[in-house]
Amino acid sequence: MPQPPLWAPPAAPSLPVRGFAERAAVGRIFCVGRNYLAHAAEMGHKVEKEGDRPFYFTKSPYALVESGATIPYPPETRNFHHEMELVVVVGAPGFRVPPERAHDLVYGYACGLDLTRRDLQLAAREKGRPWDLGKDFENAAVVSDIAPMPGVLLERGAIALAVDGVVKQSSDLSQLIWGVRDILADLSLFYHLAPGDLIFTGTPEGVGPLKPGDRLEGRIEGVGTIALTIGPAE
Ligand code: MN
Repeated sequence: MPQPPLWAPPAAPSLPVRGFAERAAVGRIFCVGRNYLAHAAEMGHKVEKEGDRPFYFTKSPYALVESGATIPYPPETRNFHHEMELVVVVGAPGFRVPPERAHDLVYGYACGLDLTRRDLQLAAREKGRPWDLGKDFENAAVVSDIAPMPGVLLERGAIALAVDGVVKQSSDLSQLIWGVRDILADLSLFYHLAPGDLIFTGTPEGVGPLKPGDRLEGRIEGVGTIALTIGPAE
């Protein structure tokens, strides 16, 4: 029998930080669902902020891909979708953080693509099953370099995504149903947030299918840009 260690640990997920040579280690990846009214509507849902609260799903940190990559069109889907999102980078520990202190948790922001096997997600949703196969798969969390903005709560700014030069998603962070402050306070009721945790804040309307050869370019005002190419199916 081989003796331990039986295999090398996987490379620790990390992201570049603008202005620094050192990379930031990435912890958990949380995602907010249905956080823009127009996107909730296009997915067949009506969201009332009053009396409701955000909901979340997660992706493995090993789903992380850096901006600029080419990824294969993923397996077992015929409806692979883009979702352009603001990503919050947590920089301080926080548990049961009051909304008025939520900014203390912010290290910075990045652009993100919450890539989704929509057909698998919707099939799971209809059967009341978990979303994992639709949301948490290899290369499904694309993130740009991190723009450090310690303590800043981003509340407005254009967010847009183009596929092959055609704008598909265009909105503004002011349209978030639950903003960065709300999300950090609420999520910290469920988890001990920690430096390196990423939070995808939800996508605006205009999500749609991708195909091999597509080139994606996203932008968030005041944060930066993100790029991705879809390669052939494996
Ligand atoms: Mn999303």
